Amino acid sequence: MKEDIDSQLVNHKVEDEDGINLENIDLMDISRRSFLKLAALTGAATFIGHYSTDIVEAINDEATPKVVWLQGADCTGCTISFLNSEEPTVAQAIMGIGDYNVDLGYHETIGYQFGITVDGEPVEEEYNANYALDQILEEEEEYILILEGSVQEAMNGNYCRSDGEAFIDKLEKVAENAQISIALGACACWGGIPGAEGGNTGAVGLQFDGKKLGGFLGEDYESQLGYPVVNVPGCPVHPHWLMTVVVAALLDKLPAPEDIGGWVDDYHRPLDIYGTIEHDYCTLRGFYGNGVFAETYGEEGCLWKIGCKAPVTYANCPKEKWHRGTTYCMQALGPCVACTEPDFPEAFQPFREPVQRLPSLLGFDLNDFVKVAGAVTAVGIAAHAIRRVAMGEKEQE
Ligand code: SF4
Ligand code: SF4
Repeated sequence: MKEDIDSQLVNHKVEDEDGINLENIDLMDISRRSFLKLAALTGAATFIGHYSTDIVEAINDEATPKVVWLQGADCTGCTISFLNSEEPTVAQAIMGIGDYNVDLGYHETIGYQFGITVDGEPVEEEYNANYALDQILEEEEEYILILEGSVQEAMNGNYCRSDGEAFIDKLEKVAENAQISIALGACACWGGIPGAEGGNTGAVGLQFDGKKLGGFLGEDYESQLGYPVVNVPGCPVHPHWLMTVVVAALLDKLPAPEDIGGWVDDYHRPLDIYGTIEHDYCTLRGFYGNGVFAETYGEEGCLWKIGCKAPVTYANCPKEKWHRGTTYCMQALGPCVACTEPDFPEAFQPFREPVQRLPSLLGFDLNDFVKVAGAVTAVGIAAHAIRRVAMGEKEQE
C-alpha cells in the first residue's frame, strides 16, 4: 500500500477530494487542515496520519508544551539529523504550519546565546539561554525533555559541565518536572559510543546502561505524566523518528502510561518504528534468499558476509528510508551496523565481520558452509534457518 502511494506521489497523482496534492501545495503557506491532509497522504508521519482528526481537535483545544533539548556527551549528530528533517522541515516545525508548531524553548546548539551572567546570575534577556531555561523551570511551564548525548556520571559528573555546573545536576532538575522524557540517539538511550568499553567517564543512557534498565534516572523513574523514558535510538537518529514521537507527545497522542507495554518494546523503543527486523524488508533480501553474498564493498549481493547486522537489528530504515525517502544504508551498499540496538557499538564490532551470533548458534561458520555447500539454494535455506533460530533467541532475551 505504502509503495502504491509512493509511486503515485512520484507521479504527482495523489490527490484528495479538496484537490490537495504535491503540485498545488505551498508548504509555507498551507492551512493546518491541509498540512494534516498532506501528512496523511504522504504517510510521512505515522501518528499524524493515524490520528489526524484527533490532532486537529487537540491543536484547537490545547496549548502545546515547550521542548527543552539538553545535550550531554554527544557529537551533535542527532541535532544535525533533526535539522535535516523534511516533512515537516525544522523551520516549518518551529515557525509553525497553520497553528501547528514545535515550541523549541531551549536547545543548546541552535537556540540562544549562552553565559550572559552578572554576579553569577543569568541576565534577564530575551536571547539568553540560561535565563530562558530558568524561566521555564521557575514558572513551572509544561515541557518535554529531549536528551541528546550520554550522561557521564564519573568524577561527580564533572566530565561534562554546562553553564557552570555539572551537567548531571542540570539534567536531574529538568528530568524531574518533565511531562515526558525522550532519550534521543544511541548515546542518550544506552550510553552509545561514549559508554563503550575503554571509556572512563561513566557514560550511561538516561534510563538504560546498555541493555540494563536503570541508567542515570534509575529504573523507577517516571515523568510527570507517568511515562518511563521513551527511547528513540539511532546513530544518528532518523529525523522522522524524532518528529513522529515528539509530535505525538506534544499533541498528547501517546498511548496512556499503563498501556506503554503495548506500544514500546523491552528497551522502551516505539514499536511503530522499531518493531520489525530490518533484514525482513531489505532491498537486497532477494540476494540473501538465493545465497548470493557480496565478498567486498560495491559488489552485488547480500551484505551479510561483509558485516551487515540487519538480521539482528530492529528499525524501519528499509521502509522509511533516509534522505527524503530515497535511500538507506543497505541500498547504498553499506552494511547495517545496528545503530538502533541497545548494545551498539560493542556487540557489533568489528563492523566489517559477519554478525557472530548467527553461525555460533548452530556450531559452524556460515562462511565455510558457503564454500563447501556449493548449492546456492541450500545456502539460502540454511541462512534462513539460522536467522530464524537467531531471531528466536533475540525475542526471548
Ligand atoms: S543480511 Fe543485510 S544486506 Fe543481506 S538481505 Fe539481510 S539486511 Fe539485506
Ligand atoms: S540501516 Fe542499520 S546502521 Fe543504517 S541507520 Fe538503519 S539501523 Fe542504523
